[in-house]
Amino acid sequence: MQELTNDYLVEAIEDSRPFASSGNVNMIIPEYDETIRDYLGVTIITTDGECFAAGDNDKFIPMQSTSKIIGLMLALQDFGKERVFQTVGMEPMGDFFNSISQLESYDTSKPFNPMINAGAIAVSALIKGQTVDKRFNRYMDFLRKVTNNEQLEMSEEVYEAEKANGARNRSLAYFMQSTGTLVTDVEEALDLYFRMNSVMMCCHDFARVGLFLAKGGLDLETGEKLIPSHHLRTVKAIMMTSGMYNSSGHYAVEAGFPCKSGVSGSIIGSSPGRMGIGVVGPAIDKKGNSTAGGALIKKLSQDLELNMFGIENTERKNEDGI
Ligand code: GLU
Repeated sequence: MQELTNDYLVEAIEDSRPFASSGNVNMIIPEYDETIRDYLGVTIITTDGECFAAGDNDKFIPMQSTSKIIGLMLALQDFGKERVFQTVGMEPMGDFFNSISQLESYDTSKPFNPMINAGAIAVSALIKGQTVDKRFNRYMDFLRKVTNNEQLEMSEEVYEAEKANGARNRSLAYFMQSTGTLVTDVEEALDLYFRMNSVMMCCHDFARVGLFLAKGGLDLETGEKLIPSHHLRTVKAIMMTSGMYNSSGHYAVEAGFPCKSGVSGSIIGSSPGRMGIGVVGPAIDKKGNSTAGGALIKKLSQDLELNMFGIENTERKNEDGI
């Protein structure tokens, strides 16, 4: 197995960076343009507390869909698994993440899963708080504890762009109101969703979220358990089956550990018991996944033997006679 070092990560980045040329930068995001197409950065934090980083690891980008796992954790805390999955399904979906047709075809009372836009908007309606401000503050408090980064903030510019380009998400939300899936204030659910998408993070912050999931949901500074293990299991299983949009099956096979991507080119990876991985690579494919970042995740899985279904580890040992 490859030893995890900064030098190895530098090589892994250089091997994966060329894949950026097959992707496109999402121009709806402020400050996203052709000049950042080739950015690629990674941070890995092991459960032993070692930290490795390479490439453009200090670039801050919006969370976009990686926020969906934080939202899901809060909704599970607030309402429990049964109630959450009465509102949203837990099945993977073959359509694009912002698909409307799936809302009619699967089950007229709920979206497929919490990792697609409709599902995440329905989940944001389940985050408790009297006002959107209070609900978003809870989201930020939780995120700051998970990442141990008090400086995290939402970008006003990204938030404005999310609202200005939110016609599809509004359609999804109002459709869900018509079917009775969204019973609370639709505009508030959308507003919270737009804000959660607009929080700026760098590779280290994304890696901390992955580490949080990999290390039992602890606040690593205080040792406080922030979320019960049964909710973590649920979140990781949903990431595995639906976290990489409609390429999730591919990533389950080729990476083999829970990941969540966002259209900003962010990826959170969580190798249970081993490490959290944060990747930034703004060029994305048609399905919404970072092209260079996805290549890097698959390379890391192979080289560091992160695939959870990796019986090859046992086979290799047997061949060596160990
Ligand atoms: N702001 C994007 C949207 O709601 C986020 C989607 C994503 O990252 O998948 O369409």
